[in-house]
Amino acid sequence: MDRKVKQAAVLGSGVMGAAIAAHLANLGIKTVMLDIVPKELTEEEKAKGLTLEDKRIRNKIAETNKQQLRKQNPSPITSEKSLDLIETGNLEDDLTKLAEVDWIIEAVVENLQVKKDLFKRIDEVRTQGTIVSSNTSGISVEKMIEDCSDDMKKHFLGTHFFNPPRYLKLLEIIPTSHTDETIVSFMKQFGEDVLGKGVVIAKDTPNFIANRIGTYGLLITVEEMLARNLSIGEVDSMTGTLIGRPKSATFRTLDVVGLDTFIFVVNNVYEQVTGEEKKAFTVPAFMQEMYENGWFGQKTNKGFYEKRKGEAGSIIYQLNPETMEYEERTKLNTPAIELAKQQKGLSKKLQTILSQQGDKASDFLWNITAKTLLYSVQMLGEIADDITQIDNAMKWGFGWEIGPFEMWDAIGVKQSVKRMQEENFNVPEWIEQFLEAGNESFYKEDGENIYYYDNGAYKRVEFNKKEIHINRLKKTHGVIKKNTGASLIDIGDGVALLQFTSPNNSIGIDVMQMVIQAIEEVEKNYEGLVIGNDGKNFCVGANIALLLMEAQDDNFFELDIVVRQFQQMTQRIKYAEKPVVTAPHQMALGGGAEVTLPAASVQAHQEAYIGLVETGVGLIPGGGGTKELYLKMLRGMPKGVNFDLMQVANTVFERVATAQVSTSAEEARELGYLDQFDGISAHPDHLLHDAKQRVLALAQLGYKQRQPEKIPVVGDSGYAAMMLGAKNMYLSGYATDHDMKIAEKLAYVLSGGRVKEGTLIDEQTMLDLEREAFLSLLGEPKTQQRMQHMLLKGKPLRN
Ligand code: NAD
Repeated sequence: MDRKVKQAAVLGSGVMGAAIAAHLANLGIKTVMLDIVPKELTEEEKAKGLTLEDKRIRNKIAETNKQQLRKQNPSPITSEKSLDLIETGNLEDDLTKLAEVDWIIEAVVENLQVKKDLFKRIDEVRTQGTIVSSNTSGISVEKMIEDCSDDMKKHFLGTHFFNPPRYLKLLEIIPTSHTDETIVSFMKQFGEDVLGKGVVIAKDTPNFIANRIGTYGLLITVEEMLARNLSIGEVDSMTGTLIGRPKSATFRTLDVVGLDTFIFVVNNVYEQVTGEEKKAFTVPAFMQEMYENGWFGQKTNKGFYEKRKGEAGSIIYQLNPETMEYEERTKLNTPAIELAKQQKGLSKKLQTILSQQGDKASDFLWNITAKTLLYSVQMLGEIADDITQIDNAMKWGFGWEIGPFEMWDAIGVKQSVKRMQEENFNVPEWIEQFLEAGNESFYKEDGENIYYYDNGAYKRVEFNKKEIHINRLKKTHGVIKKNTGASLIDIGDGVALLQFTSPNNSIGIDVMQMVIQAIEEVEKNYEGLVIGNDGKNFCVGANIALLLMEAQDDNFFELDIVVRQFQQMTQRIKYAEKPVVTAPHQMALGGGAEVTLPAASVQAHQEAYIGLVETGVGLIPGGGGTKELYLKMLRGMPKGVNFDLMQVANTVFERVATAQVSTSAEEARELGYLDQFDGISAHPDHLLHDAKQRVLALAQLGYKQRQPEKIPVVGDSGYAAMMLGAKNMYLSGYATDHDMKIAEKLAYVLSGGRVKEGTLIDEQTMLDLEREAFLSLLGEPKTQQRMQHMLLKGKPLRN
């Protein structure tokens, strides 16, 4: 593939345009972002003597929207530096800039005529061969380029990002009848490998795949709710995690998306379909009334829910669709729900809840499930060529744990079809034939591969070569070693992977032991080791429940052993004879960061939130975290160059004392948790592969085991300087007495104890200081309160 996208242009800088430009800039792609020229001046601009001809005014919309990127939450940018890669301009003066870019993305208002006019203008200035795409949510992409040249038509397609593009995995690619096959395959590969997205190929039909099925599912849910007299809150208590959907379930999701956007999307289908489908895509009267009242959800502070401030804090009210009044939120609990909650795994939960006929929740969920499954079958062929595109679109775009066809397999195709027929649902003939032919599920596995049913035959699911599927590997190749906390797996080419399997991937004794055993094994029989996993988070830290229990029982002798073992683990990672690469994704906090830092190299996912957060639970890092962060920063300083050691110590002090967590891998680099040689992966599913490549590169380039380091410390005077900083925080009310106690311990560790500035101490000395400080804080009642609070509430306590 010799085509590259080094520069891009985004046209339109609204909600999506600016966020797409940010995503590209995050990935290092230089991006021009253009928007329309304002038609008139504000009073303030007039007063300043500005005119409509001034560049500042002409670029104002795009520039203002670029600056807005800084303020949004969650942030569309991974670092302030991303903004430097976005150049703003306007659609009148700067269109010729499009001649220089490799990809042009249109994200202007959702209006066919506006898009058509713009594409004609783009056609005149673009260089032949440049890829052009539209981010439309549902207008026909074929129609947009009717008046364009053949070269443009060949290189044009839909690229539908989901909002927010940095965080949502789905990218729908929509070829037209003219799009060159090589462009489709290039964009799929580029979308996955460079943009880090999960790509599905959709057909050019209203709202494409995810929004077509997703909106249908939501409308059916509303219809069943009204028919069964259920409340908004009751529906949400059934349609969230219980059935493998996001926590925000049905109506909280709609409040976040915005009713205005939802109705726009629904109407787009309504206008283009007929019959039963048109009926299904009719906006319910009460939602139309909400729309007219301006109750759009979060953005208008009122939607299906309203948060009202009461004396005892905020209370959430739900809308009653009949009276259009807000009333106290209600939840539903039935025997079927209770029973389902006790089951392990989504399949069992679904089977249980759907089979309790006569139960209010069961009957409701069965009806929406049956209708959504049947609609997905009906849409197959029309919106997508095969079931994997539909399943993936729903998982990556709507956060469903499993897609509709996977769900059908999970509840049993045969039994559910039987029930559908008994209840007079319209089951397509091919499903009946599919069952008559002896098939039982839409997907099959033979260990090595997964197959999906497609038009009378099973076909192999083709995965991106960079995906490593831990569970499948375990099934086909087994595990090398495992205990209750971690498993060591062979991931091929002489590389082993250590996966944490403990609850929340926290570090307990079992994990520590397995890390040490894994390294022993790797030193004997492998080229190197990756420490990483495909869980929700890389690692949320040490098992604080265990630490707290021992501390409350005054078992400080045992605790001393545990901390020593933790240190032994991190030192073993650091001094392994073979390269160890850590692969953090999402949270790598506390002990998770302490495991990350000492590795020979780190390969992090773009969304890596790394930080030494121990002070949040009244502790400081005890497993070498402070030492390694300090050393990692010092290693960046060339030998012989004079630098201010105090500044380095102060920076580490600040990071640890304030429990600073990076908001991205790029920021982790700016904060010193990663260095310039560590790598960042855009695609979460490619992370382990990339980490493996990093191990192999290190191994093949002659990896040398690390040599023990001497640590220059700031000593007595540095200690005093750090405490002065802490005192200022205290005096300004930012630190409590207990924070000061923790800060004092931290300053003592970092300064290397009572020594002279510039003294070289060995690592063990600093480890001993860390351990002593950690254990003494663990004995503090206020620290124990913080730990307790974290365990119960999941949030830090300030005391
Ligand atoms: P938006 O209203 O936030 O931004 C639209 C942009 O178009 C604005 O910057 C505006 O200045 C510009 N514009 C207005 N009139 C124009 C004209 N005549 N010519 C050129 N530009 C003009 O909209 P958005 O939400 O960013 O949507 C942009 C596109 O992305 C639409 O096609 C939309 O369907 C699609 N989309 C939106 C979402 C979403 O969640 N918002 C998700 C996926 C796709």
